[in-house]
Amino acid sequence: MTLDFRKFSGSGMTSDSSRSKLIASLENEGICNKKVLEVMRLIPRHIFVDEAISNKAYDNTALPIGKSQTISHPLIVAKMTEILMTSNPKRVLEIGTGSGYQAAILSLLVDKVYTIERIELLHNKSKNVFKKIGLKNIYTKFSDGNNGWSQKSPFDAIIVTAGAIDIPKALIDQLSVESGLLISPVENNGKQYLKSIVKTNDRIDEKIHGIVNFVPLLSGVIS
Ligand code: SAH
Repeated sequence: MTLDFRKFSGSGMTSDSSRSKLIASLENEGICNKKVLEVMRLIPRHIFVDEAISNKAYDNTALPIGKSQTISHPLIVAKMTEILMTSNPKRVLEIGTGSGYQAAILSLLVDKVYTIERIELLHNKSKNVFKKIGLKNIYTKFSDGNNGWSQKSPFDAIIVTAGAIDIPKALIDQLSVESGLLISPVENNGKQYLKSIVKTNDRIDEKIHGIVNFVPLLSGVIS
């Protein structure tokens, strides 16, 4: 896809140089997938947060996006994306659209991104941002992501961006049996761990990738 994000370059704290600094810090933290770094340099994170805090958009930190939710920490976005890309997915489902930043990053790396959000306001806001920056391969749904999106399944990969106690069974069911990869924060004894699972016909392999801090995966929707 050829997209021109230069018109979203911004100035001062939202400029290309602050973006470059962020990318350098991600590299320092061990992110080495060049494509992931390139896409994170390209996508203007400041467009996904309110203007009042856009000067903080390229700090390596989570930020509020309203309704007590957050846009994830760039390092976590990079890490989860890097893990997801190890399976070379074409069709990806995201649970927890939030600001839309993670979906936007994925949209430049895979063919199709399906993303579900349970808060209607955030669902609508992110849809507008995708339109504004011209991302046409993101399909959004206002719904409870615990049920996945069965009509569009199976997915090559699923990324959950809210902390679950248990990974919802519907999501595992909707994962491809051809090494489908799911990544999710999972709670255990008051701590959240980043967990990945790889599903094949006859088995599920799990791996833990360290401690994370996501907002909780909740049930139902908020209009
Ligand atoms: N990926 C987002 C991170 C958002 S924070 C980004 O890049 O900005 C997590 C989001 O998950 C919140 O917006 C929250 O409302 C949403 N969420 C929590 N439980 C959910 C559920 N069951 N279904 C869909 N979205 C959910």
